[in-house]
Amino acid sequence: GYVRTPLIAGNWKMNMDHVQGITLLQKLAWTLQDAKHDFERVEVAVLPPFTDLRGVQTLVNGDKLPVRYGAQDLSEHDSGAYTGEISGQFLAKLGCSYVLVGHSERRALHSEGAELLQGKIQAALRHGLVPIVCVGEPLEVRRSGEHVSYTVDQLRETLKGLSAEQVAGLVVAYEPVWAIGTGEVASEQDAQEMCAALREFVAQEFSSEAAEGLRLLYGGSVKAANAATILGQTDVDGVLVGGASLDAAEFANIVRFEH
Ligand code: PEP
Repeated sequence: GYVRTPLIAGNWKMNMDHVQGITLLQKLAWTLQDAKHDFERVEVAVLPPFTDLRGVQTLVNGDKLPVRYGAQDLSEHDSGAYTGEISGQFLAKLGCSYVLVGHSERRALHSEGAELLQGKIQAALRHGLVPIVCVGEPLEVRRSGEHVSYTVDQLRETLKGLSAEQVAGLVVAYEPVWAIGTGEVASEQDAQEMCAALREFVAQEFSSEAAEGLRLLYGGSVKAANAATILGQTDVDGVLVGGASLDAAEFANIVRFEH
């Protein structure tokens, strides 16, 4: 068995309306059930658009699918005059397990910074959602050779104010910006180097229990063809998959990386 249960999470981004989303999830579940996938051994989660979540909940509950799901963002507030925002309590009520916090597209396109992200992590934890906290360096930082200190600093800023117990339950996704949606995948050595450094930082800053409990994912152009080598690294506990999660057969093959 694994020290930490591997998590294979699919970020659908702004793809799949609620009808398409149900079809995709149904296909994924059938494929995995036909293959007798052990969902206890390797956990599967999908992160659809907000408007799909009620349909996903109905399908998962109705068919008793062992698939977890979550959202791609949440508000730092719980309710009130925040037009267009979505509360963590609404997500919890829909049966969400996870929520992405600080995906690079939100950091870049919506100027989400550390202080806001700290609030979003707190909001997720208030409602029993597990935040999947995303960090990672842009291309120029990778080229400068400063990628490890850059990404560790980004995580330090984002996790400010959390207790060691809270950090132990988190998921952190290392997603180098240059590898997201580009077809350019980090090498398994790159993924391992960063995940080991992030875990070491958590051990120093929080506790060894937090470092042992925390699950670290790699994300950036993961496909069935490269998933097994990346997931074979000691400090990589899962993958966050964008593009390849929109194809049920491809995503199922990532989930079945051991085969
Ligand atoms: C992502 O959006 O988190 C991601 C990793 O995308 P892709 O797999 O398409 O690179």
